[in-house]
Amino acid sequence: MIPVADAIKIVLKEAAALPAESVALEAARARILAEDVIADSDLPPFDRSQMDGYAIRAADVAKAPAKLRIVGESAAGRGWHEELNAGQAVRIMTGAPVPVGADSVQQLELTTENGDEVEILQTVTTGRSIVRRGSEIKANECVANSGARINAAMMAVLASFGYANVKVSRQPRIAVLATGTELVRVDQKPGRDQIRDSNNFTISAYAQMAGATVRQLPLAGDDRDSLKRQITESAEHSDIVITSGGVSVGAYDFTKPALRELGAQLFFERVALRPGKPTVFARLPNGTLFFGLPGNPVSVSVTFNLFTRAAILAMQSARDIALSEEWARLARGAKGASERDSYLPALLHTDETGTVSATPLKWGGSSDFIGFVSATALIVVPRDTGALEAGTIVKVVQLPRG
Ligand code: AMP
Ligand code: MG
Repeated sequence: MIPVADAIKIVLKEAAALPAESVALEAARARILAEDVIADSDLPPFDRSQMDGYAIRAADVAKAPAKLRIVGESAAGRGWHEELNAGQAVRIMTGAPVPVGADSVQQLELTTENGDEVEILQTVTTGRSIVRRGSEIKANECVANSGARINAAMMAVLASFGYANVKVSRQPRIAVLATGTELVRVDQKPGRDQIRDSNNFTISAYAQMAGATVRQLPLAGDDRDSLKRQITESAEHSDIVITSGGVSVGAYDFTKPALRELGAQLFFERVALRPGKPTVFARLPNGTLFFGLPGNPVSVSVTFNLFTRAAILAMQSARDIALSEEWARLARGAKGASERDSYLPALLHTDETGTVSATPLKWGGSSDFIGFVSATALIVVPRDTGALEAGTIVKVVQLPRG
């Protein structure tokens, strides 16, 4: 058995970076940047008014109210490009350039217009309601680094600087294969001794959240030869093959024998983890990575998020790979295991004082995927810790949301 941290290190070492590709900005959300994003202009590109009102000189209204002569209008997209002199005002709109000579904008609500004159009712400080050219960012500055995930806010940044196409890492292609003679498809009625496959859907969902594209393969029974064939075939057009089930020590657990007979290179096959001890990580003869996750649905979620998710993100050269960690107060007692680190499903809650508490879910073990639906995090109980009382501060890792 190897420690969880060592297993993650091995995964990160083996998950080689995929090449970059260019995609249209519309299709770039949730992808990982493969280039630094550089501002191609100052922002704002000119001194910009923040308000509808009048561009003026603050000194002209040092004694307010004061009357000024309206000499022009500066609208967004259609500025007034003369010089404003003492005693003058220019009607201005939000987003419009502030004319040379003006040093402040008084908002419309504090003015009264009368023909070609405007009365400024209150004094203004110099610079009032003006966003200076380049105050948000200067041309040629780096706005975002390679490795960042493109979220909705980042889309605005990319659009503003002309990234109609953006370089991102290629998405890892994943093949998902559920093993077990007891399994039937979601659209089938389970017969005697059968259950519907659920793991393929959990794995697909988590893999897509991590940025992969997913192909679900036909269900595999517990048959060594067909398993070997399906693994080999699925590896052909995939960067990672993920199976679930068949990695324990039962008479019909054929994943490991199949891998050995195929000549795969096994990196680990037992992790000091609960749940998820029999997790397998290997490289198939064609170079494709292979994760053999245990069959129990909760073990699938835990092991996918600890190991497979890291591989998918590392292949995309993502900057943030580790699950977010924090510390929380146990709301109820929890029990670890000897020799293995436990990752116990829990619900996190922050109270009005900012204290984060973790409530271990009442659940029926690693097959209880119904209880697991409400989990938002995993409580980490290091091996050989013994029983933890309510109130103990524990480390938790957040489960990805989506
Ligand atoms: P195994 O690791 O193959 O021994 O499976 C452990 C448990 O997980 C058994 O109760 C299986 O029926 C169940 N299981 C295995 N694969 C799946 C799957 N794809 N969907 C739902 N349950 C599964
Ligand atoms: Mg099985």
